[in-house]
Amino acid sequence: MAQKKSNAGRSRSGSRNTTAARKAGRQVARAARRSPVIAVVCVVLFAIALAVWYFGGCMPGSTTTTTAPKVVDGTVEVHMIDVGQGDAILVRTGGGDMLIDTGDRTNDSKTALVNYLSASHVTELEWLVLTHPDADHIGGAVKVFETCTVKRVLLSDHVNTSQTYINTIEAILESEAEVFLIETDDHRVTNEDVTATIWCAGQVFSLGDADFKVLGPINTPTINNNASVVMRMTYGASSILFTGDMEDEGNNEIGDVLAAYGSELRSDILKVGHHGSVNANSAALIDAVSPTIALISCGEGNSYGHPHSQTLTLLEAAGAEIHRTDLEGSIVYRTNGTAWTRVGSDAVYLWGIDRHTLLCAWVPARAWVY
Ligand SMILES: [Zn+2]
Repeated sequence: MAQKKSNAGRSRSGSRNTTAARKAGRQVARAARRSPVIAVVCVVLFAIALAVWYFGGCMPGSTTTTTAPKVVDGTVEVHMIDVGQGDAILVRTGGGDMLIDTGDRTNDSKTALVNYLSASHVTELEWLVLTHPDADHIGGAVKVFETCTVKRVLLSDHVNTSQTYINTIEAILESEAEVFLIETDDHRVTNEDVTATIWCAGQVFSLGDADFKVLGPINTPTINNNASVVMRMTYGASSILFTGDMEDEGNNEIGDVLAAYGSELRSDILKVGHHGSVNANSAALIDAVSPTIALISCGEGNSYGHPHSQTLTLLEAAGAEIHRTDLEGSIVYRTNGTAWTRVGSDAVYLWGIDRHTLLCAWVPARAWVY
């Protein structure tokens, strides 16, 4: 199969097109249905397929980019969807929609996500970003593929052996989505049957007038959380940092990102790392980002104790306004490229009916009364 070329993923640094193990992924998915043991073996093989050494290096992007904000005309919305204990963030731009993570694998979480996307009239995603292969981030991915047309998928090349991950890989491979992999350890895939685009930290791409820069993962993750795809979005002069679940434990991905990007991390909004855990929100990271708004996605009464009191103290000390899905439900911010404002969610439900449907019913009903 010939290599595909990225259209919307406009590459401005460090991109290399190469082939990837779609065939191996299909074998993983098929084997998973037959035998868990074979499935694990195949996942390992898939990992090996993803880990073919090559030489050429994949370096993080420059840390010194001081340019005037792009002039923009329109708005961008960031929806932190209440999916319980997990992440699912919808980014709506003039150029289409991006979904960052898909919530947890529980039925409640999947239902919440699908209902929200439906109520928001999202049927097509320009990008689906799966930050890392944990169930509270990829749990609803299969449902998303069932209900939306996904044009492009962005994920790291870090693999997992869970059934949720295998099902997710199967859904990706069976879709028509273009695949983009963030390389974590200078590996690349060589399989004639598959096409993927290999990126590394430093990659820049656009969706409408919103610009995204991939900041991580940089090095080989020793834990799934440190495989998180970290991105900073800018729209005009507005900015938000999406951190996934990256931590300073294990291989200290936070330390690597701080060392590589430092002051470039400063952002208006921080998607607080790992649901507010202490290992994902060091004083150094919060100081570098210096957010005015901090968004935390976590489940009400979750057993992990998220968010951690130390994280909340650090964010308050930094002067950030803290908002949490466990206390407030879904949270939506909109920017015109100058300032962020909190707005109501389109996916407001009353007796199980979304606001849009209620309005459609209310207007003719009112006309009939008069
Ligand atoms: Zn998580």
